[in-house]
Amino acid sequence: MAKYDVVIVGAGNAAFCAAHAAREKGARVLVLECAPEAESGGNSRFTAGAIRFAYEGVDDIRTLCPDLSDEQIEITDFGTYTKDQFYDDMFRVTRYRTDPELCEKLVTGSAPTMRWLHEKGIRFMPIYGRQAFKIDGRFKFWGGLTLETWGGGPGLVDAHTQIAKNSGIDTRYSTRAVGLIRDGMAVTGVQIRHKGVLHDITAKSVVLASGGFQSNVEWRTRYLGPGWELAKVRGTRFNTGDGIRMAMEIGASTYGNWSGCHAVGCDNNAPEFGDLNVGDGFQKHSYPWGIMVNAHGRRFVDEGADFRNYTYAKYGRVILEQPDQMAWQIFDAKITHLLRDEYRIKMVTKVSAPTLEELADKMEGVDRAGFLDELAQYNEAVNTEIPFDPNVKDGRCTNGLVVPKSNWANQINEGPFEAYQVGCGITFTFGGLRIDPNTAQVLDQGHDLIPGLYAAGELVGGVFYFNYPGGTGLINGAVFGRIAGAASAEVKE
Ligand SMILES: Cc1cc2nc3c(=O)[nH]c(=O)nc-3n(C[C@H](O)[C@H](O)[C@H](O)COP(=O)(O)OP(=O)(O)OC[C@H]3O[C@@H](n4cnc5c(N)ncnc54)[C@H](O)[C@@H]3O)c2cc1C
Repeated sequence: MAKYDVVIVGAGNAAFCAAHAAREKGARVLVLECAPEAESGGNSRFTAGAIRFAYEGVDDIRTLCPDLSDEQIEITDFGTYTKDQFYDDMFRVTRYRTDPELCEKLVTGSAPTMRWLHEKGIRFMPIYGRQAFKIDGRFKFWGGLTLETWGGGPGLVDAHTQIAKNSGIDTRYSTRAVGLIRDGMAVTGVQIRHKGVLHDITAKSVVLASGGFQSNVEWRTRYLGPGWELAKVRGTRFNTGDGIRMAMEIGASTYGNWSGCHAVGCDNNAPEFGDLNVGDGFQKHSYPWGIMVNAHGRRFVDEGADFRNYTYAKYGRVILEQPDQMAWQIFDAKITHLLRDEYRIKMVTKVSAPTLEELADKMEGVDRAGFLDELAQYNEAVNTEIPFDPNVKDGRCTNGLVVPKSNWANQINEGPFEAYQVGCGITFTFGGLRIDPNTAQVLDQGHDLIPGLYAAGELVGGVFYFNYPGGTGLINGAVFGRIAGAASAEVKE
């Protein structure tokens, strides 16, 4: 008899949610992680732990954050983020391409899954600072993103690991799944490589939760297109598309936006892959408060088109498309106090100067005359009649520019000035496997269920297209991981 009922490939958030759900049903569960323990946890460990879910008001927040004091509640406007708002965001940012059934599962499953995680022992707290600024003594949350996990991504993965250990789930590190084992049509285990030796592990079912293919430079160039080999990977080096490849080898159907991905502006000199000591610190997400210019010194995108949560994941691609695949973000003294903490890390490509002319001299690779001309035009175009308010889409815009700025347009005219050089940092790929939304079971090319095979998280296609509402990656992995784990535990020999 096989030692395990369910084998889970990966040890990130989706994988552990699948593991907990399968274990709850009494299954004997094994989690396989190709990374060594110190680098385990995939992209989930790199996150800030920001997690999007539908809620009706402060009572829902209180249930998930019982440590919140009355005083904190008193000075905070959590607002609401209804299921309808979540649907609207998903459909709007994906240009109405998100799979309606997958999206419905995601949105309707988000709140119950948060409560389930909380009951399992995952702790949450409000994202003060990043998602709410204190204005007139009160915090107001915006952008549908309100809670993060304690200790960010590392805290989340450590908590998952501990919960798994306590409930009798086995985890094997430095163990790479290399292929699926089948008995007839049914998947009955995985072939693994550990310390250079191949072994077979049999089980009643397998859950693939091994992430996208963003760390596979050849696939990235093949599917996302020329130039993508030049992007930096923000997260784990271990998500090379193995799970997708293994499933395709046995005839799984592929789905979704294979040429699309989540990519952001990140430090131009960030390393090839993410660095766990820096976490998500290479990203540079405060561009809505300033402007971005390319090598010609010209603006190329509406930095204030929407809240940061709804633009950052698509602006990495726009930066990659600029000459020399880079841009500079410019801020003046009026708003540097609003810059996120990632602007203060040690490994940062930053210049500062008391005047714009001196700043221009220091901004490597930028046409000086073009930049100064662009700034003059921009400053002239700012509508100063409308007050600046970072907590709402304030409508403080530019007038008459070819590349408008729709909100938060402040003149850049008070020294000292700061500029940060950014390139494209890829987070994860959008294309992946086709699953049944109710069970997360993988479908074959005829859209029939593949017996014994389930998938969740980044490697599932059809959820995200073109863009992504911030904080949806973790909840996507949690909702479908939980579904996959529960369904995989029901498989009979
Ligand atoms: C810097 C950064 C910040 C982010 N911030 C946020 C945020 O705040 N909120 C949010 O919602 N999302 C965020 N994301 C996105 C989020 O990380 C992902 O969407 C989510 O964590 C994916 O979870 P997952 O379990 O599918 O994949 P992962 O967490 O990446 O897990 C995949 C696992 O599979 C393992 N693996 C791969 N191949 C094999 C194999 N062959 N055999 C065995 N194991 C294998 C990997 O080592 C890893 O453990 C961020 C991502 C990055 C990179």
